[in-house]
Amino acid sequence: MKLFYHPDQERHAPATFLVRGQQTSSPEGPVRAELLRQGLDAVGLRLSAPEEVDSPRLRERLARIHTPRYLDFLETVHSRWRELPGASDLVMPNIHPCGGGHHYPRHPVGQAGWHLHDMACPIAADSFNGILASAATAQAAAEALLGGHGTTYALCRPPGHHAGPDRAGGFCFLNNSALAATVLREHFSRVAILDVDLHHGNGTQDIFYSRSDVWTGSLHADPSEFYPFFWGGANEEGMGDGLGCNVNLPLPLGSDGGAFLEALEVLIARMEAFRPEAVVIALGLDAHRDDPLAGMTLETEDFTAVGKRLSRLGQPTVLVQEGGYPTEHLGGNLAAFMKGFAGG
Ligand SMILES: [Zn+2]
Repeated sequence: MKLFYHPDQERHAPATFLVRGQQTSSPEGPVRAELLRQGLDAVGLRLSAPEEVDSPRLRERLARIHTPRYLDFLETVHSRWRELPGASDLVMPNIHPCGGGHHYPRHPVGQAGWHLHDMACPIAADSFNGILASAATAQAAAEALLGGHGTTYALCRPPGHHAGPDRAGGFCFLNNSALAATVLREHFSRVAILDVDLHHGNGTQDIFYSRSDVWTGSLHADPSEFYPFFWGGANEEGMGDGLGCNVNLPLPLGSDGGAFLEALEVLIARMEAFRPEAVVIALGLDAHRDDPLAGMTLETEDFTAVGKRLSRLGQPTVLVQEGGYPTEHLGGNLAAFMKGFAGG
């Protein structure tokens, strides 16, 4: 397996975010990558850096999944924000166009409210370079697959699956899994994205919701009780050409490994009916019982079983790291998944 990580990802390192009304230290920081690297080390897997971060082909592919104004916002908002009298170091919205909104503002406060869906996406001075490095890592893994590697892995942080065409959310800015699928679509006519993160992959769903060439499926904690709250119901099946190409399997809060693996079987069966030629796994590890985001109760060995099952898909596969937050188990959970994947 060929694995990728770019050290420039550390340039996005927001110290805090807002949860339940409290400004608190962010669980989505460079320490995550360090713990995940330790996990890979423990099973003898080595990471290589993509040759470059910014490139015309990365920009061109990102423009196929995100709007031009959103990409421009991510790149320019921090410097415009800092010119405002009394502005904080971190770009953080304080107003949102709830229920829609018809007018796209020029002002950075208005744009922050438009594009930053929640308070978990603070933008610091150097954030854009870190965010771009994460996307470049996903691109490198997908390109390596096209170059002849059967399976590749991208250690991406910040993660990506909550980022929609025009929106950041849930620590995510650029949708790394959607980008990997976009690269694969240049070679394969039918691509699937299977999301096993604790949270619904709402950004990925939105990007491909009207398309029949990229299937999206997610199993996740029930959004009636859990982030991202406004997406992830079983009745969201795609629309237009994409009708039937989106599958959501919400599970009760606190679900264990048995329930997770059962749902995974159902999701895989639905995906196989689509007959994909290549697969992107949006690989969250935050369903572990000790994860600070606390939604399910998987044990470390359950990730071995998940890895084993996914390795039997028999498809060219890109693994893209999504969630999974700092605990003493995070690295071990990735190691367990990789052991299962190699052993399956
Ligand atoms: Zn998650």
